[in-house]
Amino acid sequence: MYDSHMHSKNSHDGKETLDALCQTAIEKGVKGIAVTDHIDMHSYVRRNAWVTLKQSIADIREAREKYKGQLEVFCGVELGGFPYDREMGEKVLALTDYDVIIGTAHYISRGRFAEAYSKEKYDRESISDEEIIAFLGDYFDEMLDIVESFHFHTLAHLTCPLRYINGIYHRGIDVMIYEDKIRLVLQKMIEKGIALEVNTSGYSEKYGYMFYPDREVLQLYKKLGGELITLGSDAHVCKNIGMGFDAAKKLLKSIGFDEYCYFEKGQAKRVAITE
Ligand SMILES: [Zn+2]
Ligand SMILES: [Zn+2]
Repeated sequence: MYDSHMHSKNSHDGKETLDALCQTAIEKGVKGIAVTDHIDMHSYVRRNAWVTLKQSIADIREAREKYKGQLEVFCGVELGGFPYDREMGEKVLALTDYDVIIGTAHYISRGRFAEAYSKEKYDRESISDEEIIAFLGDYFDEMLDIVESFHFHTLAHLTCPLRYINGIYHRGIDVMIYEDKIRLVLQKMIEKGIALEVNTSGYSEKYGYMFYPDREVLQLYKKLGGELITLGSDAHVCKNIGMGFDAAKKLLKSIGFDEYCYFEKGQAKRVAITE
């Protein structure tokens, strides 16, 4: 099993040392992990993320040596909001030879909200159905901007605001009302060779056992000829490493995917999905 997305305490919201993550991964029988600490173009100054990212890269180098033969440790970064500050984004990209660069957006530059994942904002008192529908439209437009704006390897947690909108607040939004917008995102990814992450961080009772993205979007990706899927737990604590991967693989298999992949030195390595 290869888990392509997780955070150490070198992320503002991470809890664990890299040592603890590596040891847990080994205990769980994981073959390889990508450590993908955050740097977000909207928030790196207040979160001191340039400093913590450099620390993350140093820690990864050390862990790579320490766990050689037991666990493959890949050097990654989760780069949020690239078009918002291209100069800083380029600086992040030039910092090292990453195995895997995750692209995403945690903030929406247009429309109603600045922060896309703030769970307090999705109750009926705060936002009407019409506003939520418009907000999600902005979200998918933002994801297209991300995919068009720079070269990276995998797109993280597409549809993730649904974790709160549908998972916590049961607003019942049908993601396929955005099919046209989502198709544009997926087509652009396929054209550029960017993989689609299946993010398993919502695979719990609390969030209604959802994947980001889930079946409908994965089916569309398959239909469009998409082949590159990464699996990411987005673990911020050790126990979540590899969470929901068996169910995610089952889902992928049922849609017709026989492989997923991870990235090493920017190259996709394919892994068969076994039963
Ligand atoms: Zn993220
Ligand atoms: Zn993450």
